[in-house]
Amino acid sequence: MARRRQLYEGKAKILFEGPEPGTLVQYFKDDATAFNAQKKGTITGKGVLNNRISEFLMIKLAEINVPTHFIRRLNMREQLIKEVEIIPIEVVVRNIAAGSIAQRLGIPEGTRLPRSIVEYYYKNDQLNDPMVAEEHITAFGWATPQDMDDIIHLTLRINDFLTGLFLGVGITLVDFKIEFGRLYENEDMRIVLADEISPDNCRLWDAKTNEKMDKDRFRRDLGKIEEAYQEVARRLGILPEAGARDMKGPETMQ
Ligand code: UDP
Repeated sequence: MARRRQLYEGKAKILFEGPEPGTLVQYFKDDATAFNAQKKGTITGKGVLNNRISEFLMIKLAEINVPTHFIRRLNMREQLIKEVEIIPIEVVVRNIAAGSIAQRLGIPEGTRLPRSIVEYYYKNDQLNDPMVAEEHITAFGWATPQDMDDIIHLTLRINDFLTGLFLGVGITLVDFKIEFGRLYENEDMRIVLADEISPDNCRLWDAKTNEKMDKDRFRRDLGKIEEAYQEVARRLGILPEAGARDMKGPETMQ
């Protein structure tokens, strides 16, 4: 098979040219970073699990008519996606105080927020992804007011749906980060959910014990990281067939 052209390498994923125009292949690595890549590590099997978890959640979201970039999973570590123009904004939704909001506003971690709060961060590693307001986003043209209407509307639906889905398997969705892109089809442009949704960009707590089942185990050196990601997949009913023994997965097929 001809070697595919690599288009972009990020901290946790690589994007390759897809088999047809308008498609890309998204490859999930085991690499983990935190604190804007100041902390680096490898979580064995993370890529396999995130590929599977993100596939599952994107399919479920598509079923409730949330448009996404996902087409289909290709193998253990790769999925075929639609090529989109990424909007350079990280959309964070918070249901319970944790991480930066707990620190910034002095709210004890674990406090349920009066209502779900949506925040925006400008995607720029050099600037450390600064928090911005909708005003900045529209004034600087990163997204139009119409784009923002779609993004807010979709984000709240995603939060409602995922909160219920996770609660159903005994997991509290504390907060998460999502990204959107512009999908151009014929003359039309649509805002679609892009990137991934996985324990790398969600805070997931066991609903009974509040035990952390996400990347905070890596950020805060809590150990049992692989086990936590596997447990999320197990509860969602999607642990890869070979189970915990085969988490490494094949190398990318190039
Ligand atoms: N998050 C992310 N990527 C980032 C920053 C945050 O996926 O670059 C996720 C993080 O996993 C958490 C939520 O967004 O689920 C809120 O993160 P927070 O602002 O508390 O930042 P943190 O303290 O985790 O860096």
